[in-house]
Amino acid sequence: MFVRWYRSPYPARYPSPWVTAERPRLSHSVVAMTVVPEPDPIDLLREFVDRVAPYDPDPSASPVGLIEVRHRHATESFPLTPHLVRAIAGALTGYRDPGDRGRCAQCGGRRLDDNLHCVDCGRLHGVLGEVIAARAERMATGGSAPGGFVG
Ligand SMILES: [Zn+2]
Repeated sequence: MFVRWYRSPYPARYPSPWVTAERPRLSHSVVAMTVVPEPDPIDLLREFVDRVAPYDPDPSASPVGLIEVRHRHATESFPLTPHLVRAIAGALTGYRDPGDRGRCAQCGGRRLDDNLHCVDCGRLHGVLGEVIAARAERMATGGSAPGGFVG
């Protein structure tokens, strides 16, 4: 089992919510669970607003809207200044999902796994995938005998 340990953001005297089991010693069959808490969207947005606010060229500008975030039992409203709208637009358009590995060259699907294997049609991508696809195409058209090397 693959286990990833995270550095606790809390001082050592406080129990960390990130690690729910003792750090395993080097032994056989050690199983540990790691729990990564879901980020609080209110805290995230508050920190983002605090981060971009010092660079607002017109802090006295009237808000152009309002974002209200409800999470669990808390609600917080954030006035949308023009500067904050630009900052949010930049953050959103610059975002790239970690699971985004491009499109499948065969079916156009967007679900490629960690090994660049298309979940929808099965095609393997990357350098190895291209070599395999080229070889399969040559074999299908009679260009190479099975097991033969074609450079
Ligand atoms: Zn595909």
